[in-house]
Amino acid sequence: MTLIDGKKLSNKIEDEISKEVESLKPKGIVPGLAVILVGDDPASHTYVSMKEKSCKKVGFYSIVHKMPDTITQDEIIETIEMMNNNPRIDGILVQLPLPKHIDTTKILEVIDPKKDVDGFHPYNMGRLVEGLDAFAPCTPLGVMEMFKEYKIDLEGKDICVVGASNIVGKPMAALLLNANATVTVTHIYTKDLSSHTKKADIVIVGVGVPSLIKEDMVKDEAIVIDIGINKLESGKLVGDADFETLSKKCSYITPVPGGVGPMTIAMLLKNTLKAAQRRVK
Ligand code: NAD
Repeated sequence: MTLIDGKKLSNKIEDEISKEVESLKPKGIVPGLAVILVGDDPASHTYVSMKEKSCKKVGFYSIVHKMPDTITQDEIIETIEMMNNNPRIDGILVQLPLPKHIDTTKILEVIDPKKDVDGFHPYNMGRLVEGLDAFAPCTPLGVMEMFKEYKIDLEGKDICVVGASNIVGKPMAALLLNANATVTVTHIYTKDLSSHTKKADIVIVGVGVPSLIKEDMVKDEAIVIDIGINKLESGKLVGDADFETLSKKCSYITPVPGGVGPMTIAMLLKNTLKAAQRRVK
């Protein structure tokens, strides 16, 4: 079994990004990321501070715009429009989830697609599905980067994606289709989940249910990519796959933590760098 080490790979990517940042300096360009953080959700605050730290590490300019959860939708829109027009900002990210009184779709559609480094704007989603150059959402993009690093060929492979959200499962399926894999997307309404996972060469799970994928649900030598992040009552972080038993059966597996999580941040940096490089052109 080979452990897919997302921490190590993300460090390598961040080192490459730092070098690119250095090479942009003589052109007077410093990649800039703006994050909008609404409310006091502790997990959102943790994610944003991790993103801020990573920006600093690679030499990006970064700002975090914190807003109370009493903020109105129009005030958030105004802030995004200001960032759309700010030449120092290459990427804009709105940390989700937003409070219930805010229409998330409306907010995401206000972000300039050229600065949509999270890849959630329908313009980028549409281009992604068509196989055109686009900002792809960072988590599935990080998974694709893992396949590349570990030389896992996807062409013609049977891949089962478990979870079909707009930020994880759907863009994951689009990226895999673009890589010529045969993709099955499953979700909460899927009847007999294991009949799909058992047939797959690769199972990619992102649902938010601890240990949903068990050893008897995959075939021998399967590859399991675990996107889930769940905090147990004990405080322990686990994924959606039962790592203990699966790691004895799989050919490759990602751990949680230290798997897909760090790759998501590395891809956010990569997308922001890409936006800055477009500014040069
Ligand atoms: P979501 O709630 O928006 O979507 C969950 C999806 O899983 C839905 O499509 C739902 O139908 C499906 N699902 C739920 N229970 C299921 C079950 N029992 N069987 C089959 N399908 C089921 O969640 P999300 O935002 O897509 O996040 C999913 C998980 O991925 C969470 O654990 C989240 O923390 C994690 N996540 C991790 C990263 C990362 O960087 N590693 C990034 C984003 C999300």
